[in-house]
Amino acid sequence: MPSPILKMHVPAGEIICREGEAGDHAFAIEAGHVEVLCGAGEAATVVATLGPGEMLGEMSMLDDKPRTATVRATEDCVLLVITREQLAGRLERADPVLRMCFDVILHRFRSTQERFVGAGGRGNGAAGPASLARPPAPARPCLRQVLDRIRLEQELRAAIGNGDLALHYQPVVRLADGGLVGFEALVRWQHDTLGTISPAAFVPLAEETGLIHELDAWVMQESCAALSRFNRLGAGTPLSLSINCGAQVLADPGFAEGFERICSAASVAASQIKLEVTETALVNDPEPVMRTLTDCQDVGARIALDDFGTGYSSLSYLHRFPIDTIKIDRSFVGAMLNDPLSGKIVRTIAGLADDLGVELIAEGIETRAQSLALADVGCDLAQGFHYARPMPFRAACALIASQSAIRAAAGGGLETIRAVPAAVPAGAVAVLEAAG
Ligand code: C2E
Ligand code: CA
Ligand code: CA
Repeated sequence: MPSPILKMHVPAGEIICREGEAGDHAFAIEAGHVEVLCGAGEAATVVATLGPGEMLGEMSMLDDKPRTATVRATEDCVLLVITREQLAGRLERADPVLRMCFDVILHRFRSTQERFVGAGGRGNGAAGPASLARPPAPARPCLRQVLDRIRLEQELRAAIGNGDLALHYQPVVRLADGGLVGFEALVRWQHDTLGTISPAAFVPLAEETGLIHELDAWVMQESCAALSRFNRLGAGTPLSLSINCGAQVLADPGFAEGFERICSAASVAASQIKLEVTETALVNDPEPVMRTLTDCQDVGARIALDDFGTGYSSLSYLHRFPIDTIKIDRSFVGAMLNDPLSGKIVRTIAGLADDLGVELIAEGIETRAQSLALADVGCDLAQGFHYARPMPFRAACALIASQSAIRAAAGGGLETIRAVPAAVPAGAVAVLEAAG
C-alpha cells in the first residue's frame, strides 16, 4: 500500500522532538515557527529559531545518532514529515563522491557541535555553529525546491494507489491510408490542486525516486485491460498498444515474466504490445535491458526505439538490440519542412529503417504537409495531433467503433479512410456502451 502524505499539525508549545531520542524522521516546516533548545530543564537554552521552508531533525536521521537538541513549536505549525526511506533512497542513488563529501561534512559538523556543547558554549548562539545560530530566515529557494519535490513525491506515491492517475490513448495510423492500427498509452496525473500534470513533469521524478516501478506496473496493467476491451469492439485486425518503458523498469529481472502474466490475465496477445524504449535506456546498463527485451520479444512483443535521433544514436544499438520499429522523434518531424538538415535526417532515418528491414513510425505529425512528406520517404506509421490527440479510454473506444462502422460501410476496405474522423458515428455509441 502506498503510504499517505505525511503531514503533522503541531500546536504552539508542543515538543516536536527531544534531545537524546532516536531520530527516525526529519521535518520540513510548512507553516509556523519552532525553537531549537540545547540542555534540559532550567538550563535549556534556545540556540536557534526556524521557520517556513527550513528543515529540522535531519542529522540524527542521516547518521543514526541520538538527537542533539529539543525542538518546540512556538506557534501552531504544519510540518511535512520526511521519512528515513525517502532520504536513504536518494543517498543510495547519489554519486559516491558526493556521498563521501556529505559523510565528511556531517562528521565534522558533529565534532564541532560536540566540542561547542562540551565547552558550555550555549546562550545567545552567536558563538555556535552557523546553521544553529542563525536568526529566523526567509525560505531559501533551493531548499524550497527540494521540499516541493519531496511533497510531490509523497503525492505521487499516494496518487498511484488512489486512482488519481489516468491513461490517455493516442491513435497510431497507417500513413498510406490513415487506417487506425493502434494506440500509444500515455499516463496523466489528475492532481487535486495543480490540475492535469504532464508525464514530462512527473515521470523524471518517478525515475529519480524509484516510484517508476509502481507507476509503470500500473500503466502496463491498466493499458492491457483497456486493450482487452478494445479487442471486443471488433476493430478487424488486432490493434497494437505501445507502452513506454524506462531503463530502470526494463532492467528489473522480473519484468518479462510480469509482462507475460499481465498479458495472459488480460487475455491479450503479447504480439499486440509494442514496448517503447529510448536510446538512453540502452546506454547505461545495457545487458539486463537487452535480456528483458529479448525475453519479451521471444513471447511475441515488439520493441520500438522511441525518440530516435535525439539520444546517442549509435548505430550499434540497432545492431545489438532486438529492435522492430524505429520511431522518428517529433523534433525532426516538426522541423523537416523548414529546416533542410532536419529534412535530411528524416530521409536518412527512413533509408536506414528500410535497409535494416524495420518498421518506421513518425510521431508529432501536426500538418497534412508533414504527413505527405513522410509518406513520400516511405514511413509506415504515423502519430500526431494532425490525426488525433491523446484521448481518454471511452473516446478511444468510440473511435474504434467508428472505424469499424466506416470499414463496414466501405465493404471491408480501408482505402477510403484518409484520417481518423473527429466525430463519432451514432451507431458507435451502442458499441461503446457494450465496452463498459
Ligand atoms: P513520448 O513517448 O515521446 O510520447 C509522445 C508525446 O508527444 C506525448 O506527450 C504526446 O502527447 C505528445 N504528442 C503527440 N502528438 C504530438 C504532436 O503532434 N505535437 C506535439 N507537440 N506533441 C505531440 P506526453 O503525453 O506529455 O508524454 C511525454 C513523455 O512522457 C512521453 O514521451 C514519454 O517519454 C513519457 N511517458 C508518457 N507516459 C508514460 C508512461 O506510462 N510510462 C513512462 N515511463 N513514461 C511515459
Ligand atoms: Ca513513446
Ligand atoms: Ca517519442
